[in-house]
Amino acid sequence: MKILIVDDSDTSRMLLETMLRNAGYDDLIMACCAREALTILGIEGDDETSEPDLILMDIVMPDLSGIETTMLIKSEERFKDIPVIMVTVKESENSLEEAFEAGAIDFINKPVTKTELGARVRSVLKLKKETDRRKARERELEELTRKLEKLSNLDGLTGVANRRSFDDFFEEEWLRGLRSQTPISLLMIDIDHFKLFNDTYGHMQGDVCLKRVAGAINKAIKRPGDFVARYGGEEFVAILPDTSLEGACHIADLIMDYVEELKIEHEKSTTNDFITVSIGVSSITPHRSISRDTLINTADSALYRAKEAGRGRILCENVASDTNNTPS
Ligand code: GH3
Ligand code: MG
Ligand code: MG
Repeated sequence: MKILIVDDSDTSRMLLETMLRNAGYDDLIMACCAREALTILGIEGDDETSEPDLILMDIVMPDLSGIETTMLIKSEERFKDIPVIMVTVKESENSLEEAFEAGAIDFINKPVTKTELGARVRSVLKLKKETDRRKARERELEELTRKLEKLSNLDGLTGVANRRSFDDFFEEEWLRGLRSQTPISLLMIDIDHFKLFNDTYGHMQGDVCLKRVAGAINKAIKRPGDFVARYGGEEFVAILPDTSLEGACHIADLIMDYVEELKIEHEKSTTNDFITVSIGVSSITPHRSISRDTLINTADSALYRAKEAGRGRILCENVASDTNNTPS
């Protein structure tokens, strides 16, 4: 593991280096002052950067003290988990509190003894290794979740169907409508001012809100043949087979009511004090001369106009009969 030693005294630096080499650590980088350390880490200048597993930092140095340097290092996200051990003389002991506040993990008194240095470095590096291992495992787990989500038909956050299964379901229903010549309706549902909601209450609350809105939509959509999916970030889509525009608008009304009942506070929204949605509804009896995308596009443009008109509302529209869109 790589250790960076920052000390302005040549003797101290050499002593630390010798002791560490004798203890079996041979990947050592030396810095004779704070500036050199900041350059090595890539915080100053634009030379190649180095990422040590441990930093030994002298407290008393000219220019920048070890405490100020630690503070600068710790202000960078990528160094948050890199342990810093302060090397202090008795007289600077009262600055230890500041050192810990700056982000140091431990300290060693000067004159440094072989036993003390070995013990401190070993235990801090052990902790660092464990942290690295845990972080790697977390990354693997996130990757795995993403892969599983892709394979599955469900959206990992809200539990409703995902975009992929929407595409499959829509294609099937469209073909069924073609055969039976019954209308099919589609709802595009988008949460209003959701970016502002995230900015105000945080992403975690945003996720909770998404789940609850998905629940409200599910509650309104009751027929076994109906289908709800997460279409994109904060946008949901519902397909209602065998349903006219009128019937679909009734369902859209129910969704609005159920979302309103959730009473999820949104103090920055200019539409309401609570979370609202806008809904675009479209309907058509499938025809061979029309692409099924037309149904999505019509709902999308109705949604757009609902947003333009002030949000928190529903706009319903039959696909125009003169639409001349060739099937895909
Ligand atoms: P509008 O009323 O016009 O729809 O405005 P909006 O802010 O809702 O729409 P915009 O498209 O500008 O922003 C969508 C936001 O949704 C931005 C993004 O951070 C948030 N978002 C998308 N997916 C997720 C998610 O999975 N979780 C959370 N918490 N937020 C999400
Ligand atoms: Mg939105
Ligand atoms: Mg959106």
